[in-house]
Amino acid sequence: RAKADGRGTYRFFETGMDARAQARRLLEMDLRAALQRDEFQVYYQPIRDVASGRVVAFEALLRWNHPQRGLIAPINFIPLAEETGLIVQLGEFVLRSACTDAVTWPDDVDVAVNLSPVQFKSPNLIASVTDALAASGIDARRLELEITESVLLQNSEATLATLHELRAMGVRISLDDFGTGYSSLSYLRSFPFDKIKIDRSFVSELATREDSMAIIRAVTGLGRSLGIVTTAEGVENDVQLELLRREGCTQAQGYLFSEPRPASDVAMMLDRPRLRASA
Ligand code: C2E
Ligand code: MG
Ligand code: MG
Ligand code: MG
Repeated sequence: RAKADGRGTYRFFETGMDARAQARRLLEMDLRAALQRDEFQVYYQPIRDVASGRVVAFEALLRWNHPQRGLIAPINFIPLAEETGLIVQLGEFVLRSACTDAVTWPDDVDVAVNLSPVQFKSPNLIASVTDALAASGIDARRLELEITESVLLQNSEATLATLHELRAMGVRISLDDFGTGYSSLSYLRSFPFDKIKIDRSFVSELATREDSMAIIRAVTGLGRSLGIVTTAEGVENDVQLELLRREGCTQAQGYLFSEPRPASDVAMMLDRPRLRASA
């Protein structure tokens, strides 16, 4: 009896593994086909200057518009795209779309694009950025590339060389999700970042946790002393925004202003302050 159970369990396990591997293969085939079928779409989320309230940039966020499954968030396909190397092509698509869209916006509004560590290490990176800039005709100074701390972990000489090369082109570099990875202050010294994005996890507990408040205060202070812009991610309410303003955080991004939306909604999201009609 015990033996039969064991065997049954084993078989079930084996079938389970097989099903998972198969699901993965299907998703990979689906991803490749999706690139051919143009199912990927870039959404944009506004980033506002805290002091003036002006929209200063949009972050490009990738969506998969799946014919059966509907809109799929990046967490559900980026990891596999990274494993299979498809992220390089996907990343090129995002770069091109973002630059092509942004060139139609007011020229004081920048565009931020996320770079996967895999894409960052690919020998194509500099050429993809150069191509996206040239094809769109956008001023390189309007493009911000967001990298995470994980990029800085390995191979620091090659990484620094790439970062310097991008910066020499006029592109700006942001450190995304700051505080969640293997944060090291030495990163801020070895490379001059243009912007630090404070991770949403600190912002969400801003009003309820003293320690989150202390971390925000420290990071905004650091940014001020180093001359680096600080952007708070995931700002969802006015209380958070007010606390950030008090700490002198430069920019804010979050559902309070808008969720990410398609390019066709950018004009609506810009919502520039209008001159008051004179009384
Ligand atoms: P991220 O770069 O940190 O982007 C911010 C994420 O926070 C986005 O999730 C955005 O929709 C979400 N968010 C913004 N405001 C709020 C808020 O107020 N509350 C909450 N709860 N969430 C908010 P999304 O679009 O699902 O993207 C998740 C992550 O996927 C991104 O995190 C980024 O790491 C990655 N990603 C997205 N697009 C791309 C891409 O084109 N290339 C690469 N390599 N990664 C991408
Ligand atoms: Mg980002
Ligand atoms: Mg982020
Ligand atoms: Mg984040």
